[in-house]
Amino acid sequence: AGRGSRQQWDGVGRLADGHPIKLLANVGSAADAHAAAAAGAEGIGLFRTEFCYLAATDEPTVAAQRAAYAAVLAPFAGKPVVVRTLDAGSDKPLAFLPATDEPNPALGVRGLRVAFQRPDLIDRQLAAVAAAAADTGAEVSVMAPMVATAAEARWFAERARHAGIARIGVMIEVPAAALAATEILAAVDFVSIGTNDLAQYVFAADRQLGAVAALNDPWQPALLRLVAMVAEAAAKAGKPAGVCGEAAADPALAPVLAGLGLTSLSMNPVALPPVGAALAGVDLNACRDRAKAALAATDPETARPQGE
Ligand code: PEP
Ligand code: MG
Repeated sequence: AGRGSRQQWDGVGRLADGHPIKLLANVGSAADAHAAAAAGAEGIGLFRTEFCYLAATDEPTVAAQRAAYAAVLAPFAGKPVVVRTLDAGSDKPLAFLPATDEPNPALGVRGLRVAFQRPDLIDRQLAAVAAAAADTGAEVSVMAPMVATAAEARWFAERARHAGIARIGVMIEVPAAALAATEILAAVDFVSIGTNDLAQYVFAADRQLGAVAALNDPWQPALLRLVAMVAEAAAKAGKPAGVCGEAAADPALAPVLAGLGLTSLSMNPVALPPVGAALAGVDLNACRDRAKAALAATDPETARPQGE
């Protein structure tokens, strides 16, 4: 059993000394949102909106988007929900967006880059999100996927502000964005680290390819050093930084992420009880020690605690 597994999770994310770490859910549908609420999630840290439209052959109307988003937000009235704008392209093509002929789709026009070519599309989505937030009373934030520069973060923040959305963030999942975290944080209210794509791009290793899966290990010290840089920049800016990639669902890694200074972890709802219990069993000083050890490790095998 993992360290701290004797602790029970009581539905509030915190360390043994009371230090808060918000425990949030990743969802892609209303059914997921209800499961997340039932599992005791404190909010939603990643709503993958593109999952609502994988089969749509036409762009959903603003009214249809508003209804679809409201159905996801409804179980979280009064609670934080982070809605990610469409992350189409690469591993998640959308039928209503014309497929571009690209030799390297993971490096192509995906995520926010689609919006640069089609700003009308993101403006309609942001309008639908703002309306759904008003419909449900959820504390809605929006965040953009695949941001690479501070200029891109400013472009997104401007449009989201114009749509009337109060809290605006971006994902850190492109290495350049991690390296520019301070400048990006000056433009937005929070950041959320997408470790799935961040690992893929840091290690130049396709996240869908089993043959290179060992490189996409969230315990890779090089990945953790980038996560540490982002957490440090956020702490200096006095703004929240979370993790919403699969790394957040590892109960042994959660104390390391807390020790690096992250303020929330967002995961598949089934991971909430083990992660919550693991955090409840350690205090912040122990988390910082574990973070230091993981950062100093030479490889994932020595970074990962033995027997976990
Ligand atoms: C990520 O890249 O880590 C992430 C959370 O987003 P997605 O898995 O949807 O690309
Ligand atoms: Mg991603």
